[in-house]
Formats: sequence, structure tokens, C-alpha cells
Amino acid sequence: MTGSDTDYDVVIVGGGVAGCASAYHLSPDHDVAIVERGQIAGEASGLAAGLVAPTLFHGEHPDVARFANKWFRAFDGTQNFSFHERPRIEFIQPDSERAARDRAANLSAKGFPVSFLDPAEVEEAYPWFDASRFAGVVEYADTGWVDPYEYTVALQKAAEERGVDVFRNTPVRDVSADDGVATVELPESSLSAEYCVMATGWRTREFLSGYLDLPIRPFHLQCAMLRLEEPLDETFPLGRVAREELYFRGELNGDLLVGGGEYLEDTPEVNASGSGTDDEFRLHVASTIPTVIRGAERAEFVDGWSGVDAATPDTLPLLGSSAALPDEIVVATGLNGLGMVNSPIAAETIRSYITGAEAAFSVEPFAVDRFDGGGADFELRGTFEMEGAGR
Ligand SMILES: Cc1cc2nc3c(=O)[nH]c(=O)nc-3n(C[C@H](O)[C@H](O)[C@H](O)COP(=O)(O)OP(=O)(O)OC[C@H]3O[C@@H](n4cnc5c(N)ncnc54)[C@H](O)[C@@H]3O)c2cc1C
Repeated sequence: MTGSDTDYDVVIVGGGVAGCASAYHLSPDHDVAIVERGQIAGEASGLAAGLVAPTLFHGEHPDVARFANKWFRAFDGTQNFSFHERPRIEFIQPDSERAARDRAANLSAKGFPVSFLDPAEVEEAYPWFDASRFAGVVEYADTGWVDPYEYTVALQKAAEERGVDVFRNTPVRDVSADDGVATVELPESSLSAEYCVMATGWRTREFLSGYLDLPIRPFHLQCAMLRLEEPLDETFPLGRVAREELYFRGELNGDLLVGGGEYLEDTPEVNASGSGTDDEFRLHVASTIPTVIRGAERAEFVDGWSGVDAATPDTLPLLGSSAALPDEIVVATGLNGLGMVNSPIAAETIRSYITGAEAAFSVEPFAVDRFDGGGADFELRGTFEMEGAGR
């Protein structure tokens, strides 16, 4: 798109993964700018564990899962980015076995490589694990992991190569819209655009409070890095014990990255750029991981960190506009602890809104106005809800 009277076709506020993926996806045919208050991937997007499992979290919407699965494989090799393909195993407690087997069969019938393995099959395929206290696992063979910082910066650089301008250390003060033009107020100037995309994570609610009460809440997520006596190799899968609220993957150097420790965050501003882990989370990791991974009781804790993301009432992101917003202001927030997984979905939904072209999937599940009355008075569901299923 060219030839308009505005500075840009689209100004994206926020240089996290939602903003950078949207910029990249719009860049072939739009003049785009990203405006970031600090550094690219300086908040949640640089702190993620990087597990990517679209079929697990979006199996209810198969076209969404297929689109995201394809995106990571297509983007692999761009800039420095690698998508590390690894299977993922979801440990199932005995009382969830029936539902987990049904889900595996349903997804398999839709063409996804998902199966149920009983404990003996788990231990044969993945000898690191003690599966004896579980009914088995649901195995997803279409998953993988990304380095979240590398991925987000690769999106930004690939977008920049296609002509996207990137403003760093530039806090946006306000956005407004009038007569078909969005105005983005910077500290000492302003930018005009046909559309402004608010990809500002948990801060988006406060930002747009003059227009609507967005149903998002800041929540806290943690990671611990463990060094085992025997380094893990690339045959180690991604995994999760949903009931015990922990997930994990191997690092390239053989360390074990464990994620969990989610709770509503009261002081998001303090922890947004990253902070340490709390004792409760570390103790939970230390007492639970050795019951699942053999030899982990002798693991050394080598690093730990946490960050803040935006939760939504149903765990799906908020993407697009709202009846309460001017048409020129678009939202890409509420990535709900799954921003790497959700980044292609955000990019495609935002592109569809801006171009008017049909998306590769139904965007209805992500409608900003899907909650009656909106508002942020909801319980945290986080990312751990159902065993063998994302939600
Ligand atoms: C510990 C941890 C583990 C995680 N593990 C996973 C995982 O395994 N898999 C997965 O898929 N996801 C994971 N996530 C979630 C994922 O990191 C987030 O969902 C995702 O990064 C959110 O991206 P975002 O672009 O919405 O937000 P952010 O990355 O927070 O980006 C928003 C950006 O907006 C900028 N901004 C805000 N206000 C302004 C302003 N006024 N002007 C200009 N810029 C502004 C901020 O500086 C920030 O850079 C994890 C998160 C954490 C913290």
C-alpha cells in the first residue's frame, strides 16, 4: 500500500513478539513503523521459555493450529532464527486418561500427529522419564522450541529488511484517531498512520482505558535452568505435567529449562523487564522434577528468571478492533503465556483486519468484544488448565 497522506500505513506500538510478527507479516505491501519504549524483546518476549505447541493449545481450532505450525517451519532459517523441532509429551494422571485418549484420537483423525502412549511405551521411546505414576502421555510430534529473543529479533530484522522503520527508546504517550487518521504521540513529535496497532502487552489495558475496559490482567511466569549430571541431547522432548503446573525442554548446551510458577502480578511495572524466581517455585521444581526425570534429584540450579504477560479470561488473545474503539486503532494483546505460539495468529489476524482479506482461519475466537461487559475482574486460568489439552 502506498500513496496515502499519512507518515505510515501502519504504526505498531510495542516491539515484543506480537508487534514484530505483525510488522513482518504486513511489511511486503505496507509502510510500517514499530515504536518501542525500550529495546526490542526487552520485556516478556525476551524472557519466554520458547516452547511452541500450536496443536496442543489450538487443537479446537484446527486451521489456527495448522497456520501456526506452518509459520515456524517457513520462517526457520530467516536471519539467525532456528525452529528446533522436538516432540512434546503431556503427562496424564490416571483420572484424566479417558479424556486424554479421546483427545489424541480426535486430533489424529483431523490429521495431526498426536498419539497416546502408555507408561511402557513412554519409557521405551524416552528413557529419561519415570512414567510409572501416570496413565501415560499424549505425544505431539509437530512441536518444537524457539529462542524467544532470537525469534523476536529475527522478525524485527526481517521486517526492517523489507522497509519497516524501528524506533527504539521511544515511549508512546498517547494514541487517538480522527477522520480516518490515527495519531501516535511520541515524546517530542507524533506519527500519523491509517492504522495504529497496540501490541503493548499488559500495558494495553491502561493505554486504552479512555475507550474501553479491556479484559486483560498482568500475570507472573517463571523459569528455572537446571544442570543435570548427564547433559540432555537433542532427542530429549518438550514436556509438561499440567496437573503439577510445570513444563520443560532441553537447552542446546544440555541443561534443562523448567517453566511454571504462574500467578496474578500486583507490581507488573517492577517485574516487566525480568526478575528472579521465588522460593516456592524453586522448591516445587526441586521436589517434582525428580519424580518425572531420572537423575534430576542431583541437578544443580544454575539460573532462574521471571517476567510478566497479559492474561485473558478464556486464555485466547485479544486481536482486532472493538465497537468501543475507533476503526483505526487495533489491539494485539493478551497473548496469555503463549506469545511464541500465538505470534503467527496475531500477525495473520491483524493483517486480515487491516487489509480486509479473509484470514487463513476464522478470527472469531480472538474477537476483542467476545466477553460480555469486558473488565479485568476474572480469575487467572494461566496455561496449565487441562491435561493433554491446552485448555
Ligand atoms: C517466564 C516466561 C515464560 C514463557 N514461556 C513461554 C513459552 O514457553 N511459549 C510461549 O509461547 N510463550 C511463553 N511465554 C509468553 C510470551 O513470552 C508472551 O506471551 C509474549 O512475549 C507476549 O508478547 P507481547 O508482544 O504481547 O508482549 P511484550 O513482549 O511484553 O511486548 C510489549 C512491548 O510493548 C512495549 N511498550 C509498552 N508500552 C509502550 C509504550 N507506551 N510505547 C512504546 N512501547 C511500549 C514494551 O516495552 C514491550 O517491549 C513466557 C513468558 C514468560 C515471562
